Amino acid sequence: MSVLVYIEHVDGAFKKSALEAVSYAKEVGTLINQPVYALSIGEVAESELENIGTYGADKLITVNNAELKQFLNQAYASVIAEVATSVGADTVVLSNSFSGKGIAPRIAAKLNAALGDGAISLPQMSGDSWTIQKTAFSNKAIATEQLDGQKRVIALTPNSMEAKEHPTSMTIESYQPNLSPGDLSTVIKDIVRATNKVSLPEAEIVVSAGRGMKGPENWAMVEELANVLGAATACSKPVSDAGWRPHAEHVGQTGLAVTPKLYIAIGISGAIQHLAGVSASKTIVVINKDPEAPFFKVADYGIVGDAFEVLPQLIEAFKTY
Ligand code: FAD
Repeated sequence: MSVLVYIEHVDGAFKKSALEAVSYAKEVGTLINQPVYALSIGEVAESELENIGTYGADKLITVNNAELKQFLNQAYASVIAEVATSVGADTVVLSNSFSGKGIAPRIAAKLNAALGDGAISLPQMSGDSWTIQKTAFSNKAIATEQLDGQKRVIALTPNSMEAKEHPTSMTIESYQPNLSPGDLSTVIKDIVRATNKVSLPEAEIVVSAGRGMKGPENWAMVEELANVLGAATACSKPVSDAGWRPHAEHVGQTGLAVTPKLYIAIGISGAIQHLAGVSASKTIVVINKDPEAPFFKVADYGIVGDAFEVLPQLIEAFKTY
């Protein structure tokens, strides 16, 4: 038996969340004394493939079919389930990323396995009954979910576990899957990246701004701070509703839930619906000119001041840091 971890890449480079998943799978494998097999689908550079051994995979299985060049939920889930069966993996690990959310339930259904999506901790095990922890009720509570049965699929929340190094002498082998026409009924011919910016769901640092920025013309300084810090940009709901920023940047109860190490909130009041999507951030820094702004109640650090004076100073300070 083994643990299979599916590792996602973007344009041939593995995502940070994929490395976190490998390291997590290694820790699970160590707990149950099973080897860890990593699975990569699509074309990935040789050096990237070899690097997976650094995070604890004993074997890397590569699938590189022309039909799988673009991500397809149905086809990728079929391949992962097929490989899991062929290597006798009772435990499948993947990242709870945008695509992971699409395929984890499908893999679980195909393998007749329990699904633990959004895990934030290593499982506790008692025979075939495992429990994982995940956030619930918009990050206000931690739920313990029980996964019963001999098989389980665990989707790990990005940024919830470190990608620790566990160097192994990993072997690499390729695998030819049996794809059925039904798996390939949708064909994505091409995907063009609209931006090279840091991906918001996975970002370690998020610079987020609200109505306090007054208008879209003032976002250059928010973006500059994000660039200096290597951060993703986000915004409050009214900002995206007003068309100042794209909807993909809206965080909160009705937007994305993010879990960065550092969340910097600029000119955002801290309404409960906004906090619902950001309160799982490890450190929260709030910049607001109103000392009574509710956001300060959940902040680790706060700056009471006008964003138009504070941001240029922060940018300068970080540039020279
Ligand atoms: P405001 O509330 O207008 O706050 C602006 C802040 O900027 C104020 O605190 C002000 O003191 C500060 N400020 C002003 N000028 C400056 C300056 N020069 N320098 C520094 N600070 C300044 N909101 C979300 O964000 N995400 C959601 O997912 C979401 N979902 C919702 C779902 C429902 C069902 C409902 C009813 C609401 C939802 N909202 C959501 C809206 C939410 O209730 C708030 O209205 C919204 O978050 C407020 O956005 P804001 O903080 O940018 O604006």
